[in-house]
Amino acid sequence: MSALSELYRQVAACHRCEIARTRTNAVPGEGAENAEIMFIGEAPGWHEDQQGRPFVGPAGKFLEELLASIRLKRAQVYIANVIKCRPPANRDPLPQEIENCRPWLEEQISLVKPRMIVTLGRYSLAKFFPGKTISRVHGTAQRQGGMIYYAMYHPAAALHQQSLRQEIEADMKKIPALLAEAAEISEAKEAPKQLSLFEV
Ligand code: SF4
Repeated sequence: MSALSELYRQVAACHRCEIARTRTNAVPGEGAENAEIMFIGEAPGWHEDQQGRPFVGPAGKFLEELLASIRLKRAQVYIANVIKCRPPANRDPLPQEIENCRPWLEEQISLVKPRMIVTLGRYSLAKFFPGKTISRVHGTAQRQGGMIYYAMYHPAAALHQQSLRQEIEADMKKIPALLAEAAEISEAKEAPKQLSLFEV
C-alpha cells in the first residue's frame, strides 16, 4: 500500500470534526501520486460526498474542461480540498474544521511533492495567500521555497456567476508557462523527477 493510500484509509476513519457524523464518504483527494501540479479546492459537495471523490459534480466537469484547455487530463494532476468531509447543506467550512483537517492536506502535499499548487477559491487562498482577497490576486503567482503558488477562483464560481467564466479560463491559460518555470526551479534544485507534461 502506498503512503497516499494509507493516508486515504486514515482520512476515511477520521472523526476529528462533527461533520464526520453526517458525511456519506470522506473525500481525501485523488490523482497522480507524483503530480507536478496540485489543485486545492474548498470542501466536498453533494456529488463528492456521494462518490468519495473530489470535483465530480458540475464544478468538477468545468475543472476538467479547464484542464483540457491546457492539454491536461485530471489523471495527470492531483486534486484535493482544504477539508475532506462535506459540511451539512454545503455551508462554509468552519475555522476549526479547517484546522482539524490541515494535517491531512499537509501530508498530501509532502507525499505528492508538487512543483506548483493552484488554490481554487477563497478557503484554499487563505492558506497559501494569507490576508489576500481572491478578486485582487486571482491569476497571480507567488514563489516560495522552490514552489509556485497560483491563485484562481473556484470553478463553481463560474457556475453561479457567468461573468467570471472568462476570467477563470484566462487564468487557467497561464498555468503551462508557470509549470515550465516551476520545472526549471525544481531542476535547478534537484535531479529532475520526470519530464514536464508540456515537453513532449
Ligand atoms: S473534515 Fe478532515 S479533520 Fe474533520 S473529520 Fe473530516 S477528515 Fe477529519
